[in-house]
Amino acid sequence: MEEKKELLSLDKEELGALLQSLGEPRYRAGQLFSQLHAGRMPEEITNIGKKTWEKLYTVSTHSLPRVRKKLVSALDGTVKYLFELSDGQCVESVVMHYEHGTTICISSQVGCAMGCKFCASTIGGRVRNLTVSELLGQVIAAAKDSGERIGGIVMMGIGEPLDNFDNVIKFLRLVNHAEGQNIGYRHISLSTCGLVPQIDRLAEYDLPITLSISLHAADDETRNGIMPINRRYPIAELLAACRRYYQKTGRRLSFEYTLIAGKNDSPDAAKRLAVLLNRSLRTRTETMPIHVNLIPVNEVEESGFQRAGKQAVSRFAAVLEENGIRATVRRRLGADINASCGQLRRAECKVEQNKQ
Ligand code: SAH
Repeated sequence: MEEKKELLSLDKEELGALLQSLGEPRYRAGQLFSQLHAGRMPEEITNIGKKTWEKLYTVSTHSLPRVRKKLVSALDGTVKYLFELSDGQCVESVVMHYEHGTTICISSQVGCAMGCKFCASTIGGRVRNLTVSELLGQVIAAAKDSGERIGGIVMMGIGEPLDNFDNVIKFLRLVNHAEGQNIGYRHISLSTCGLVPQIDRLAEYDLPITLSISLHAADDETRNGIMPINRRYPIAELLAACRRYYQKTGRRLSFEYTLIAGKNDSPDAAKRLAVLLNRSLRTRTETMPIHVNLIPVNEVEESGFQRAGKQAVSRFAAVLEENGIRATVRRRLGADINASCGQLRRAECKVEQNKQ
């Protein structure tokens, strides 16, 4: 028997074809799509009759992630959700409030296979990819729970989005749909640890999203030590892919650089980073806009890494600016609720393991 389809994973055309295959009129797909994407559950969608729902349930399913835990920051109102999926697996999403609107940080996989040494999400490895429905479901469930319109998305939660490529591409298309969540591509950022072939594939789609590259080091030796993916795609290859991406899409890239005390936070490292980016990405005829986001590392018990000091952080930013690279230090939201991704899921998993 064919596996049941998740209704939220289907686009309007696919919904139409599904309805038609059940002997229902195709045009109902529009109503179904907009209501499901607005967060309504089947029992609330009454313009689709009970009989039709019965038929739909023979070939499809619908569910939203369930709020298993919700933490609200007393400092800045940031909300962290631990969502439970239909098979009992959990992921995290974080809703952040900025002056220009509300943004959600979503997960792309249950766990992660990339093995970055400072990251809590990868400690237990990758369990599975999230489906399109689960990617979208995080946005819809958070909007529904908070009663807020979500205006932006960052794919910086648990998982490596480009390691779940096809589902992420379809998700981007659906979350941008005018009759769905209608979130503009320009308000969506996707962060990757640097999967070179997938960066090239993404460029082919030419979506006006912002691509962020998690660089975290200016030389291969340091990067190999903290990001195993660098052994497969070393810095020179990664930056060459960034250059191709820019040439193809004309979109500005941004780089993330996690500052770890005594590892990659010296003024000398800042200088090397600036030289590297200028040499690799800028030529006399091409002045690619480059932005570096500095993130003092969030300390994860298992990694033993320590946050760079305040002074080291501002010195690092100053050296980049002096060398023509725009840099900002990421404001830490939800510090009191451990809002950095992966840690809540880990904590919950530990509880589960102890129970057994
Ligand atoms: N896999 C993707 C997206 C998820 S992580 C990626 O690697 O880009 C989002 C960002 O948070 C990445 O830049 C990641 O390197 C960074 N990050 C992970 N753990 C961190 C920690 N403990 N402290 C600070 N930044 C961290």
